[in-house]
Order: sequence, then structure tokens, then C-alpha cells
Amino acid sequence: MDLEDPRLRPKLAVWKFASCDGCQLTLLNCEDELLGLAGAIEIAYFAEATRSVVEGPYDLSLVEGSITTPADLQRIHEVRAASRRLVTIGACATAGGIQALRNFGDVAEFTRVVYAHPEYIATLDRSTPISAHVEVDFELRGCPIDRAQLLEVIAAFLHRRRPRISSESVCMECKRRGAICVTVAHGTPCLGPVTHAGCGALCPSYNRGCYGCFGPAETANTRSLARRLRELDMSERDVARVFRTFNAAAPAFAEESARHPQPTEEP
Ligand code: SF4
Ligand code: SF4
Repeated sequence: MDLEDPRLRPKLAVWKFASCDGCQLTLLNCEDELLGLAGAIEIAYFAEATRSVVEGPYDLSLVEGSITTPADLQRIHEVRAASRRLVTIGACATAGGIQALRNFGDVAEFTRVVYAHPEYIATLDRSTPISAHVEVDFELRGCPIDRAQLLEVIAAFLHRRRPRISSESVCMECKRRGAICVTVAHGTPCLGPVTHAGCGALCPSYNRGCYGCFGPAETANTRSLARRLRELDMSERDVARVFRTFNAAAPAFAEESARHPQPTEEP
């Protein structure tokens, strides 16, 4: 690919579904690298950065957010049809996000209680990841995603290779940066052993337990960790809660949460 020739620059599109925009902001925050990126790639659609729109099809689409409305459901198929490669970014797009807490409740009841005219609210009763609806070429995890990992995904696309993103746990990142294990040293509950790496063990390096914002690591042994959390005096309900945050609908976390009494159940 001759990146010097502007006519041959691949087109990048960035799409938003149900989300807080934090993952798109990660791309905007790549200040130093954005100029270089703009030389190698044409930013063809990115509503958060520019009003100009270059028509598709697009070589690479980054999709933020989950599917929560009938309109989303239709639009994601249009985005997929217009994209050669589609990468989902963040907990919303890869696992349904914090808005997937609705999956465990009664959405009709919420809308009745919150809105004066719930009949105007067009919403689905579940928040689902993009991969539940269309084929996804790569999923980048995190809430928000990590800047270096995002740049690696874009570089890998430009060089036509798989992104070098490890699916190991946060514990491995702790060891690499020499952070002391907060559970072993202080008895602090931590989801690091079952959480996907990518943040560089940010929370443990500040003496805090990980709360799982990067979602489940590959082959996460959540049963074993839940037993350890109980030994650390966490209540059964808190064990259910701790797996039900940003990645509540990710299968490994949802299944572990369901094994414990639910926060809404009577004692
Ligand atoms: S994954 Fe987190 S930071 Fe990214 S859009 Fe969703 S809520 Fe925001
Ligand atoms: S340590 Fe855990 S909660 Fe903290 S940023 Fe990393 S993945 Fe997220």
C-alpha cells in the first residue's frame, strides 16, 4: 500500500451507538499520533471530530457503543455493509456496556417510571454487543479502551496483519510492572485474575483492586475468584454486584453473577 499517494489512503470511519463517547475520545486523545495517522489514513467519517463526510465504502470502521434501539439494529447492518473491516471498541460495543444492566430488569417498568410519555420511547429490552448482530473482525476491550492498543489495531490494519493484543489477565501486567498484588499484600478484593489485560494494571499500581473494566480474560476462572472474594469477607450479594458493572453481559461475568443471590432479591 503506497501511503504517500493520497488517492490510495484507506478510509477510516468511526461510528457511535449507545455509549458515552469515551472510547472515541481515546482516539481524539492520540494527539501526537493523529497527525501521522491523518497522513496514512483518510478520516472519512468521524462525527465527534469533524462535520465533513466522505462517502463510503470504508476500509476500516471503528464502532463504539451497543445496540439498544430498533434504529440501532437497522443501522449496524448498514455500517457493516459499508465496511471492509469492522472493529468494535470498548465495553459497550464488545459486551453491551453498563447499559446492559437493563438485561436483568424490566425495561417496560423503567420507562413507565422515568418518562411521562413512555409510548414515545423506542427501546429494546436488552443492550447487546455489536457481534450479536453482524460479523466483527476484531474486538478491542476496555472502558474506555487503551490508547496504545487502539493505535496497534490501526497500525495492524495498515500493515495487513493481526493486532498484537494479548488476551492474558491483568495479573500478568501487575507482574511485569512490578506492582505488588493488592490481594496478597493487603487482602483487597481484586478482579485482576479474571480480567482482560490492556490497562497496564492501572488500579493495582495505585493500591486499588481491579473492578473488571476490560471485561473477562480468556478462560477466566471466575468460580475460583468468587470463592476467594468470599474468603475476603465479601458478601454473596457483593460478589454478584462486582461481576455486574461495565461488562455485566459478558458471558463469563454474567454467568458468575447469576450464581450468587441477586442484589434485588430479598434476604
Ligand atoms: S466502553 Fe466505557 S468509555 Fe467506551 S463508550 Fe462505553 S461507557 Fe464510554
Ligand atoms: S485495573 Fe481493572 S478496573 Fe483498573 S483500569 Fe485496569 S481493567 Fe480497569
